[in-house]
Amino acid sequence: MGPCPVCEADLVISDQVEWVTCPGCGTKLHVRAQQAFARTHAAYLEAEVLADEGHVVEPRRAGYRAKARPNAAPLDEDLVRAYQQAYSGLHVALQHTLVASQQLSGVTMMAEITRRLAPRGMASSLEAEYWTALAIELTVRDELATLEKTLAAGSKRTWLVRAVQAFPQRLRRRQLLSALRRLRGQVNELEKAIGFLEPPQIERRGEEA
Ligand SMILES: [Zn+2]
Repeated sequence: MGPCPVCEADLVISDQVEWVTCPGCGTKLHVRAQQAFARTHAAYLEAEVLADEGHVVEPRRAGYRAKARPNAAPLDEDLVRAYQQAYSGLHVALQHTLVASQQLSGVTMMAEITRRLAPRGMASSLEAEYWTALAIELTVRDELATLEKTLAAGSKRTWLVRAVQAFPQRLRRRQLLSALRRLRGQVNELEKAIGFLEPPQIERRGEEA
């Protein structure tokens, strides 16, 4: 496993321990999840290079439907192997708590991988839909958290200035909250429909466990 994903301090790890605390920033890291994530990231990047070289063209995300025809052009064997390696590594990594940025990139990679494999009958289309919805949910949560911070920071001004300046932000917050409710419901339903044996451990910003 590489340096700390939060502060980039060097980490010394023995395989015997389950958790390690970063000497730089104090973040607790799950060793097996971090190792799986590092391996996976490498496999995924390799797959992306292969996909570029093979000129794999996918329908744009907006036009993607989970029930896409399963007759998309076959993928190169090496590419399928790299995707499957990344896919199984991510399953392991996501079963433990990762740091927020890794969680989002892990889920995004899962969305990309299953989006490639599902139309070719190599992953379930429900799963592709699930990871995509989850990636959007986490992105919305990030934007909402940033917005709440901005709104809180502006609270020292007079109420009138505050009200005028914060109006578009409050409007945006309402939109995000309603999008979030919809996405959360969608993700829950998909998770139930898939029936994961070991569902991913997703830590949601702004939602107390
Ligand atoms: Zn650190």
